[in-house]
Amino acid sequence: MEIEHIRNQFPILDEKVHGRPLVYLDNAATTQKPLRVIEAVSGYYKTLNANIHRGAHHLAAVATERYEAVRRQVQQLIGARHSHEIVFTRGTTEGINLVASSFARRYFSGDGDEVIVSGMEHHSNIVPWQLAGARLRPIPFSDSGVLDLEAYGHLFSDKTRLVAVNHVSNTLGTVNPVRQMVDIAHAHGVPVLVDGAQAISHLAVDVQALGCDFYCFSGHKMYAPMGVGVMYGREELLDQMPPYQGGGEMISEVTFERTTYNQLPFKFEAGTPSVGDVIGLGEAIAFMQEVGLDAIAAHEEALLRHATDALLQLPGIRLFGTAPQKTSVLSFLIGDAHPYDVGTLLDQLGIAVRTGHHCTQPVMDRYGIPGTVRASFALYNTPAEVDTFATALEKVSAMLM
Ligand code: PMP
Repeated sequence: MEIEHIRNQFPILDEKVHGRPLVYLDNAATTQKPLRVIEAVSGYYKTLNANIHRGAHHLAAVATERYEAVRRQVQQLIGARHSHEIVFTRGTTEGINLVASSFARRYFSGDGDEVIVSGMEHHSNIVPWQLAGARLRPIPFSDSGVLDLEAYGHLFSDKTRLVAVNHVSNTLGTVNPVRQMVDIAHAHGVPVLVDGAQAISHLAVDVQALGCDFYCFSGHKMYAPMGVGVMYGREELLDQMPPYQGGGEMISEVTFERTTYNQLPFKFEAGTPSVGDVIGLGEAIAFMQEVGLDAIAAHEEALLRHATDALLQLPGIRLFGTAPQKTSVLSFLIGDAHPYDVGTLLDQLGIAVRTGHHCTQPVMDRYGIPGTVRASFALYNTPAEVDTFATALEKVSAMLM
C-alpha cells in the first residue's frame, strides 16, 4: 500500500485549517472521499441522470443497470447469498429503524418483548428498539471494553425477540465476537442484527461466515457519499417482514381496496432512491477492494499501535477501550481537562478529532465521565500525522493542566 499514492486521491487532504495542514482524525464520524467517488457521482448527474426501474428510455435503462450492479457489488463485498438480500437505505440509522419497525410488527407480541443489546451501542441501535416497544437488556462490559459473554448468555428469556450488537464500537474500538454471539443467540432461536457502521471500512466482513440475520452500514464511513447505506437481511426473514414505508416501487398491484407488495428487495425500497450516491458507493467499494481490505486493516492497526504508544507517554492520560481485539479508534481524557477544550485547541493546530459522548451516553455513564476525545484512523492517515497529533497533544496538555 503506497500511502502517498492513496493520499493523492483525496483532494480534501491538501486543505489547510487555521493555516496548518489538515490532519483529519475524525474518520469514525465520516471518512473523506477519493476523487473517483466524487467524479462517479458528478458523472452520473452529467451524463446519466434518470429515474430508475420505470422508464422505457435509454438513460433510465442504463441508470437502472448501474444501480443494480452496485447491489451485486455489495452482495459480493459482504458475502451475501443473494443480491435481493441487499436493501439500499440512507445509512445505518435508517437500516436499523427499518428492521426495528418491520421486525417488531411481524415478530413482537406486544407483551414484554425484549431485545438484547450490548452496553456499548450507538444510540441508533438503542432508540429504534425502544420506539418499537422493546424492553432492552444490555450486556455489561469490562473496564477495558470487552463484553461479558457469560452475562450475555443469562439475558435470554422466552421474551427475547432479537439480539442487536455492533460489530465494532465507535467509542471504544472493540471488535465484538459476533460469530460467537450469533451462535449463542441462534441456540436460543433468536436472530441477530449487527450494526456494522464502524466495521465495514476496517475489516473484511462476511455475513454468512458471521451467521448474522441482519447487517447494516453507512456509505459515508467507507469513502462513499453521505445519504446512502445498506441493510442486509436473510431472505427467510425479509420475506416474512412487512414493508417499512409505502409508496412507488414497493408494490405489485394497488387498488383502493387492497395492495400487494413487490418482491425483494424492492418491497423495502419505496420511492426514488439516491441513485447517484449508490453509484458513488459502488466506486468506493471498488477503491477499497483495489487497495485491499487486509492491507487497510494492517495499515490501520499499525497506526493505532503507534498512536496508543505515543499517547501513553503523556502524563495524566486515560484511555477508554483497551480491548485486545480493537480497531482504529482511540478515546481518551487528559487529566481533568474537558474534552471539548482539548478538541478546540487541537483544531487550532489543524487537527480534527471528535469530542463528547459520541452518541453512546450509556458508555459514558458506565465510566462515570461526560465524554471523551476521540481520534479515529483511516487508510490515508500516516505515522507522521500520528506524531503531529501526539506532539500537539503534549502542548495542549501542558496548557490545560
Ligand atoms: N452505529 C455506529 C456504531 C456508528 O458509529 C454510527 C455513526 N456514528 C451509526 C450507527 C449511525 O450511522 P449513520 O449516522 O451513518 O446512520
